[in-house]
Amino acid sequence: MTRARTASLTDPRERRAQLVLRLTAGRTHRQAAADLGISPSTVWRDLKHLRKAEADRAAQRAASRAGRRAEIHRLLAAGQDRRAVAAAVGVSTETVRREQQLLLQRHAAARLARGRAAAPRPPDSGRGHWSERAACRGRDLDVWFSEAGAVRATAAAVCRGCPVRDACLDLAMKAEAGGHRYGIYGGLTPAQRKALARRSAEASARGDPS
Ligand code: SF4
Repeated sequence: MTRARTASLTDPRERRAQLVLRLTAGRTHRQAAADLGISPSTVWRDLKHLRKAEADRAAQRAASRAGRRAEIHRLLAAGQDRRAVAAAVGVSTETVRREQQLLLQRHAAARLARGRAAAPRPPDSGRGHWSERAACRGRDLDVWFSEAGAVRATAAAVCRGCPVRDACLDLAMKAEAGGHRYGIYGGLTPAQRKALARRSAEASARGDPS
């Protein structure tokens, strides 16, 4: 019996598994060493080995995640539909949908940035382009594109105090006409801007003054 246990503990993998079990159960390093009949320095070496193995696995996971993500983006950009991309990369269609949404958000942000740059400056303002006075300038713009309601509320609160809110909303409404809506602009969510666009279209159909 003792011989069998000693034999199994000469296998480093078995010894490390037993060590992890004991440490997880709350035994100290010294107690675990005594339980297993090994020296504290062996415990130390095994733990070092386990940490390195875990770090290597984490690096591999990150590398394969990044590779998968790049491949998803490449196939989507090539015009493949979600189901085909999911099958080709070996992920769920939900994962592809999330990546697609991320891409569209980036495109929307880039489009709005281009729109801001191209928007005409008021000739006599003497204060530079309005976007230079944006309250979101220099902030983490991921907050404006978050899916989380609480994070969106933070963005909308910043927009409410923004001195160029009207110009921002006007530009977003023009840039998004007939297209996808993402993120918070002028303090409004995509759904709120969609409703605003519908009300504006109805008002112009009635011939109401704008
Ligand atoms: S209204 Fe909001 S999104 Fe638009 S410029 Fe101001 S802070 Fe930025």
